[in-house]
Amino acid sequence: MPELPEVETVRIALSKIISSSKVKSVEVLRKDLRWEIPEDLSEKLKDDILETPLRRGKYILIPTYKGNILLIHLGMSGQIKIQNTIPDLLKHDHVRIIIEKGNNKYYSITYNDPRRFGYIDLFKKKEINQHFLLKNLGVEPLDQFLTVEYLQQIFKNKIINIKNALLDQKIIAGIGNIYASEILYKAKIRPDKIVNKLKSKDLSLLITATKDILEKSIKKGGTTIKNHKQPNGKLGYFVQDLLVYGKKNTRCSNCNNIIEFKVMNNRSTYFCNKCQK
Ligand SMILES: [Zn+2]
Repeated sequence: MPELPEVETVRIALSKIISSSKVKSVEVLRKDLRWEIPEDLSEKLKDDILETPLRRGKYILIPTYKGNILLIHLGMSGQIKIQNTIPDLLKHDHVRIIIEKGNNKYYSITYNDPRRFGYIDLFKKKEINQHFLLKNLGVEPLDQFLTVEYLQQIFKNKIINIKNALLDQKIIAGIGNIYASEILYKAKIRPDKIVNKLKSKDLSLLITATKDILEKSIKKGGTTIKNHKQPNGKLGYFVQDLLVYGKKNTRCSNCNNIIEFKVMNNRSTYFCNKCQK
């Protein structure tokens, strides 16, 4: 499932092409994604100008000149393809937007999603804080609001483990299963540690590890395990930098111990029993 770095990779690629472009046409080939795509998406988006895309958690938000926001959620297996031609549609291409950039340069932006857990929505900018996918999101891990004090405040009365806390989008937005294991390994914190037992030093290490890993992954185009591809078709090369995720029965790069694998709340979890306390 695309997490923050994969979504950010897509956002960066989109921003290079679509900023200040004009929407020439929108084809919705299949509207039954995770939720139904609004009936009037094509009509409302046509002839509008797309502004520079933003990201909130795992959602791409593209403001438009007419005061709307186009939201793209990649779900489990969604991909965005940016092409400077208008190619034939492929299987699982559900939405295609043709844009015109500058003087007669056309691009197609295609949303492909085999499992259809993703979503595309269009809503008014002023409704952004009430949007059902956005209104309960926690802080952005890469901005200044992720602090030791913020986490202490949330964690003080909570009896949940830190792995689940990292996956909870209402606390921090954008972290998923792969990066949760990597972050905890780097911060040397056991995934089953109960959050109200974490000291401020642990929280500080956790925040540093979070920022460091997400930023490094964005630089490498994210992580390709199954579906993620950058919009130019390239893979996400952070997969080569993963230290624990998917490393069951291999050795810890720090202490040489065997990496442990455990299913926690139905999610694969990898950690070093010796390095993580
Ligand atoms: Zn170790």
